[in-house]
Amino acid sequence: MRKMLLAVSAIALLGACAPKAAETEPTAPDEAVEAATPAEIHESLMVFDSHLDTPANLSKPDFDIMADNPTEIGSVQVDVPKMDRGGLDGGFWVIFTPQGPLTEEAYDAAFKAASARQDEILKMVADHPDAFELAYTADDAERIAASGKKVVLQSIENSYPLMLDASNLKTFYDKGVRMVGLIHFRDNQFGGSATDFTSPDDTGLTDLGKELVREANRLGMVVDGSHSSDASVKDMIELSTTPVILTHTGLKSVYDHPRNITDDFLKEIAAQGGVIQINAYSGYLEELEDSPKRRAALEELQSEFEGVNPFTADDETKARYMERMQAINAEFPPPRSTFEKFMEHMLRALELVGPDHVGMGADWDGGGGVTGMEDVSFLPKVTERLLEEGYTEEDLAKIWGGNLMRVLRQAEAAKETTE
Ligand SMILES: [Zn+2]
Repeated sequence: MRKMLLAVSAIALLGACAPKAAETEPTAPDEAVEAATPAEIHESLMVFDSHLDTPANLSKPDFDIMADNPTEIGSVQVDVPKMDRGGLDGGFWVIFTPQGPLTEEAYDAAFKAASARQDEILKMVADHPDAFELAYTADDAERIAASGKKVVLQSIENSYPLMLDASNLKTFYDKGVRMVGLIHFRDNQFGGSATDFTSPDDTGLTDLGKELVREANRLGMVVDGSHSSDASVKDMIELSTTPVILTHTGLKSVYDHPRNITDDFLKEIAAQGGVIQINAYSGYLEELEDSPKRRAALEELQSEFEGVNPFTADDETKARYMERMQAINAEFPPPRSTFEKFMEHMLRALELVGPDHVGMGADWDGGGGVTGMEDVSFLPKVTERLLEEGYTEEDLAKIWGGNLMRVLRQAEAAKETTE
């Protein structure tokens, strides 16, 4: 805030000295600035998150997107009342599919699972037309946010369900997907993952992965490099005709984890117009250790379900696994990072590449959330903190959504030129 107040004092001073300016009403700028509290500034901005894992909750019988559900860090953090309180206008709602075996049978099951997830997103919007609207373009997103409804853009996290055919992307595009993340925890048919330690670090995109990037460009979709190995992201940057985004990622210079990126790499991504959206996933923010009891419980669970394929397992087995996992989380909660540590990643990124290349993708409902920022209702704290650091309202508009919309518009423009 200090920067803005100083600027206003300078204007007031000029007004006092210059006869012409003195004739105008000198109190207006002062009042305008003093009236806007951080909360009001936050409320006035278009606030988007680039990675909402909330669709994973839509089929749960005890979850209601319209209700103020009890917050569970990492799994229940987004619903309409919380979005209202946190000033969150929406963003990219994720079709996530966990990585499974690269077999025909498993591909088929993954495709069905991803299609079902997309249908759940579409159903959420159809069931609550006064609260939500689907966005297919950046123009849509801005119009919907201005109307007061929640913006539902769709993205894919892990392209594993697309099987061995890049043209399957169009099936999801036709129903509204506008961003595609190629890879998740493990290497897949499209390329190398940041966290697959069974393969060399320099595993980049496969030929099929390169084809998928070209297909995304052709359709006018944003390419997301989160979870991909640096080598894969480098391939994406080289190939993609539009800037690459990292929808939920952090910085190695704050915490050296394979899911985070180096300062130099961030600068490289920013130099080609790309954006990093800062993650709030505790395990990627700082070194945290499970308590011995939690570790023991997780090991026991793992050995009990050894060899179980999540796609071909029957419903009873899946439900039993989830129940056990929830019980472990309740009894021995995972260690949490903090709001300040999250801000450290964000401020470092801003210091390195500036407000044109940084945003927020906290991994809500996908493991994100920290002590002091447990769900989306806490988002105004980020605005308050950034204002304290001297970032302007204009900077905040870019960070909260402007950058994301710019990248989406660039993807849309590339579609027009290639068709
Ligand atoms: Zn993720």
